[in-house]
Amino acid sequence: MPIVICQSCGMPLTNEQNKGTNENKTLNDEFCKFCFQDGTFVHPERTMEDQIEIGVEMSKKLWMPEDKAREIAFETIPKLKRWQEQ
Ligand SMILES: [Zn+2]
Repeated sequence: MPIVICQSCGMPLTNEQNKGTNENKTLNDEFCKFCFQDGTFVHPERTMEDQIEIGVEMSKKLWMPEDKAREIAFETIPKLKRWQEQ
């Protein structure tokens, strides 16, 4: 079974607590709670480029070297559903 990740930021959704919510308060299986709440994006103005930079910063906080963090963000984020629809 593939690991389910947020289709906006790439965060793993293996834990129900990380899942976003739909308008009717049920859990959303595609997006995390930091990206999607009550049926809408928390940061609707965010672009794919913004999201890549955020991903790089998050990985750097986990002590990943910047070039590796950037490589992963560029590989992962453009494939996510939110950015493919743009
Ligand atoms: Zn997310």
